[in-house]
Amino acid sequence: MTEFPKSPLMGQMMSQPLLISSIIKHADRYYGSNEIVSRRVEGDIHRYTYRDCHKRSRQMANALGGLGVKIGDRVATLAWNGYRHLELYYAISGSGAVMHTINPRLHPEQIAYIANHAEDMYLFFDMTFLPLVEAFAAHCKTVKGFIAMCDKDRMPAESKIPNLMCYEELLEKNSDQYEWPLFDENSASSLCYTSGTTGNPKGALYSHRSTVLHSYASAMPDALNVSARDSVLPVVPMFHVNAWGLPYSVPLTGAKLVFPGPALDGKSVYELFEQEKVTFSAGVPTVWLGLLTYVGQNNLKFSTFKRTVIGGSACPPAMMKTFRQQYGVEVVHAWGMTEMSPLGTAGTLQSHHMDLPEEKKQAILEKQGHAIYGVDMKIVGDDGKELPWDGKTYGNLLVKGPWIISSYFKNEAGDVLQDGWFPTGDVATIDADGYMQITDRSKDVIKSGGEWIGTIDLENIAMAHPAVQQAACIGVFHPKWDERPLLVVVKKPGAEVTKEELIKFYEGKIAKWWTPDDVTFVDALPIGATGKVLKNRIREQFKEYRLPTT
Ligand code: AMP
Repeated sequence: MTEFPKSPLMGQMMSQPLLISSIIKHADRYYGSNEIVSRRVEGDIHRYTYRDCHKRSRQMANALGGLGVKIGDRVATLAWNGYRHLELYYAISGSGAVMHTINPRLHPEQIAYIANHAEDMYLFFDMTFLPLVEAFAAHCKTVKGFIAMCDKDRMPAESKIPNLMCYEELLEKNSDQYEWPLFDENSASSLCYTSGTTGNPKGALYSHRSTVLHSYASAMPDALNVSARDSVLPVVPMFHVNAWGLPYSVPLTGAKLVFPGPALDGKSVYELFEQEKVTFSAGVPTVWLGLLTYVGQNNLKFSTFKRTVIGGSACPPAMMKTFRQQYGVEVVHAWGMTEMSPLGTAGTLQSHHMDLPEEKKQAILEKQGHAIYGVDMKIVGDDGKELPWDGKTYGNLLVKGPWIISSYFKNEAGDVLQDGWFPTGDVATIDADGYMQITDRSKDVIKSGGEWIGTIDLENIAMAHPAVQQAACIGVFHPKWDERPLLVVVKKPGAEVTKEELIKFYEGKIAKWWTPDDVTFVDALPIGATGKVLKNRIREQFKEYRLPTT
């Protein structure tokens, strides 16, 4: 950690470490009766309050102590968004141990690799994942016991899982008399592994300080804008970068929390939105596709839903328009990554934009947005030199800030910073107003005749076509130009469109040489563990593809 010089005159404010336990203490003391509602794995709806959550988190903290978990030890979870998972967020980190959320959509071998790499001491899991845990438990070298997050009567009669315990039984045996310990705010609090589309996943190890600062900053009006009057449903999973920090930022503000559990289909999510008067939500574009299709097909409206943050991959402008124009839901396009806790930018307007024509405002909102306070960014060329903020010049995007990684857990990948900046692997432009727009992930950019073609723009145009459900663009071999764009399309159910019509659809919308050389139709695109389209899988699938222009 970098040391900074001390002034001869130090400030005289209280020294109080920024700790995650302070968030649940605050939520209990000041918003104690505000609700947390969860659709359980069991299928029913569970309700309780921040006060109840705090009480059960203290019981669980005692239980962890009884199991021998000490400060700095890693404790893993494999769970959906729900109240027990939230209790663990506070019990584990609050007691000084490290909350390690594992993505259950990963392959069992990858899960075992991650659990061994993290040296997890215990592993909590939702009953949905019983077969999965059975598949990898024997390969976990450091895990002393597995805890099923269920009532006693739901425990399996027999199981191959070694040292299997019951969550509710553990809680029952422990008192709620517990004082959250005080320790250095730079202590590790939680651990998330990157999705690892290439190579082994690497761990981002957050601290209490970084988490609390990220929670403050992400709740601000031009970021998530969450308040005590909101009802918040995080669709983004608690195993994907801590549900973008919502399990911390929502209790901090006192808003109602609504957890969807495993039911992420359009119908279940819509019903919960309506029943629990949800005002705000957050998720990746692929989940909203399911919700919008269900709402559209059934001619429904949202009664209370007003605002959503969409990020994780580029939000197609067509989706933003549907939310805004058809349903009156404001979309905030946000960008970040596991290595950034995750929030870096959010797209909202400023007062000097208010008189602009609608389409100009829309164009600003379609960008990934403005840095939130705490995050600094710049774009550089391959020579490392900073590039101008003109909204046109694109370069490698670098970031720095107190909730951005300085090295991976166990120093995997070695020194990752470039002169103190973290290279994101994204290619972007920044305009004079400071709005950043991702052109592409550097690995996905199409290199055509020495020039770069950003695939996000090409996909956004295709997805604005009424017959297109989803589109992905990849570069395929071309003998003259090295690579040319191939558009891979999933049609909307029952809709028809031809290759020629889609290519014509690009006319006037983009530089002519960016137009895809060919279009191919598929039934579905491969989706990864965090809900993103897997471009490397599509490239693999089409590696022998020959364009008609070759
Ligand atoms: P992850 O760490 O899995 O959250 O992935 C982070 C990566 O997702 C970023 O580096 C971007 O490539 C991509 N990403 C996140 N948000 C956006 C967005 N709004 N638009 C485009 N790409 C995004």
